[in-house]
Amino acid sequence: RQEQYARLRDIPPITKDGVAIALHMNAGLALDMPYVHETGAGAIGLFRTELQFMLAPRFPRMEEQRLFYRSVLDALPDRSVTFRTLDIGSDKILPYMAKIEEENPALGWRAIRIGLDRPALLRMQLRAMLKAAPGRELRVMFPMIANVAEFDKAKTMALRELDLIRKYNYEPPSKIEFGAMVEVPALLWQLDLIARRADFLSVGSNDLVQYLYAADRDNTRVSKRYDNLSEPVLRALKFILDAGERAGTPVTLCGEMGGRPLEALALLALGYRSLSMSPSSIGPVKAMVLALNLGAAKQKLDELLKDHEGAASLREELRRFALDM
Ligand code: PEP
Ligand code: MG
Repeated sequence: RQEQYARLRDIPPITKDGVAIALHMNAGLALDMPYVHETGAGAIGLFRTELQFMLAPRFPRMEEQRLFYRSVLDALPDRSVTFRTLDIGSDKILPYMAKIEEENPALGWRAIRIGLDRPALLRMQLRAMLKAAPGRELRVMFPMIANVAEFDKAKTMALRELDLIRKYNYEPPSKIEFGAMVEVPALLWQLDLIARRADFLSVGSNDLVQYLYAADRDNTRVSKRYDNLSEPVLRALKFILDAGERAGTPVTLCGEMGGRPLEALALLALGYRSLSMSPSSIGPVKAMVLALNLGAAKQKLDELLKDHEGAASLREELRRFALDM
């Protein structure tokens, strides 16, 4: 199997009916970098910067952060990397940070909320990123954005750091793109606003589905109760994509569902053209893309969304369609 996928490495992901799909990779450690080449991933669509912080014995200094980001960019001179700012809290604990007792950590103080409340931390990380990319494109993405005000604040902090590094005569990035993760349902009602402000949107389906269904993603008692391949989830995902199209802002998805072939098929049928996934998923998803008649899949999904009559899941019907491909 793995060998078979390795042979797909240099084949571009294009559907049978000729639609090019971008398959990107999620990463977070130096260890992950060789997989970019092994899988033939077009880019790093999600770089989880918190992993460096989780493994370190203490809060990494600005210079340690900069060197790490620099090494990631240097390893990929011709591919883009989307760095996500620190997404800690909830399931991601830093051992050296005072533990905060919260009744509902997933709904608690985490991700951009910490960054905005402790601006020194976020500013330091933004400075490290800006200084790590002299003369090249830098893509920065903010996690758990719940409304456009949070995005505006975070972006303003980044621009202030940019002014500072210019003032101190460091070479800035040649271009900076700011993105928002769409993973808090409240943002679904500010999609047009966020799509006009952000340079790109990336759907965090792990969290988005957890919050849509109010079902803890790590609690197997409830996490298997609801399906990604269901009307509520698929309509939400389509809604995000439509807002991106109206604003001319690219929308990608970097949650685990993009790495499962049947889910990926549904995403492409909805209109997604870019997915970021763990390295081991790229081969299987590419094999699906190469076998896919996207026009037929779109027609099938449209029908299922219209005529499901309240079914809790569209999985079986989609699976049957996929097996007939
Ligand atoms: C997500 O929520 O889907 C996501 C990509 O981020 P994480 O899994 O790191 O929360
Ligand atoms: Mg998330």
